[in-house]
Amino acid sequence: MMRTPKLMAVLAHPDDESLGVGGTLAKYASEGADVFLLTATRGDSGRFRGYRLDDPQHPGPLALANIREAELRAAASVLGVREVSILDYHDQHLDRANPRDAVTTIVGHIRRVQPDVVLTFGPDGAYGHPDHIAISQFTTAATVAAADRAFPCDEIEALQPHAVSKLYYIAWPESTWKAYQSAFRKLVSTVDGIERQAAPWPDWAITTVIDTRSFWSTVWRAICCHESQVTAYGRLKDLSPDDHEALWGQQSFYRVFSTVNGGRGRETDLLEGIRP
Ligand SMILES: [Zn+2]
Repeated sequence: MMRTPKLMAVLAHPDDESLGVGGTLAKYASEGADVFLLTATRGDSGRFRGYRLDDPQHPGPLALANIREAELRAAASVLGVREVSILDYHDQHLDRANPRDAVTTIVGHIRRVQPDVVLTFGPDGAYGHPDHIAISQFTTAATVAAADRAFPCDEIEALQPHAVSKLYYIAWPESTWKAYQSAFRKLVSTVDGIERQAAPWPDWAITTVIDTRSFWSTVWRAICCHESQVTAYGRLKDLSPDDHEALWGQQSFYRVFSTVNGGRGRETDLLEGIRP
C-alpha cells in the first residue's frame, strides 16, 4: 500500500492558513493526505475586534494570543488539518528572530513529520509583510537543511535527515489580488515608513494552479473561526456564493523546487510526481 502523502504549510500568523491556502489545505485533507500546519506566531500584536492595543476593549497581547491560538486550532480543524504546531515567536518580530534558531526549529518539525510537500509564503511576503518574508526565508532554508545530515542541532539529533520532494511559494496573480482586495480591503504593510503593497506574480511564473471550488464554503467557515479578527473580514460577509467561489475557488503557487517532476507545463496538483 502506498504511503499517505504528507503536506506541511509553514506560515506566520493565525488566519494565514485560511485566507492564504485554506482551499488547498481543505482539498488535500479531504483527499486523504495528512496535512500539517506550522504557525510561527500567535498573532499577539493584532487588533481585537477592531480595537487597537491601547484601547481598553483590547484584552492585551497575551490574552489575544490565547484567543487567536484557539481560533487557529478551530479553523485548522474545519480545514481538516491533522496537527497544528505553534513556534511562539512574537507577531511582527519574526524578521528579527535568530535565523539559526528559527531554521533549526523548522528543521526539527520537517524531520519529525517528513512531509512530501512544503508550502510557505513567497519572498514578497504577499504584500511585503516582514513576518511573511521571514517565514519564507526560514522555511526555504529549513527544507534544504532538513535533508543535510551535516546540519546539526542538539534537540533534533535523534531525528533522521528528511528530503522534502517539493517546495511551493504562495504566488497570486494580478487577477486574484484584484478579486481579493476589492472584496476584502487593500492590503498594505508600512515598514520603516515605506508603504508596501500587494506583489502580484506574473502569470507566466505561476507553475501550479489548484482547483479548490468545491471547498469555498469550508474555507469561509474556517475564516469565520477567527472571530477576534472579524471586523477586518466584515466586508467578506456580504459576498454572494459566486463571489466566494471566485475568491477561494482557485489557488496558485510557484514550485520552488521538485525532485519528482518538472517541465514547463502548468501543474494542477501539488502531489504530481508523488502519487501515482
Ligand atoms: Zn499573515
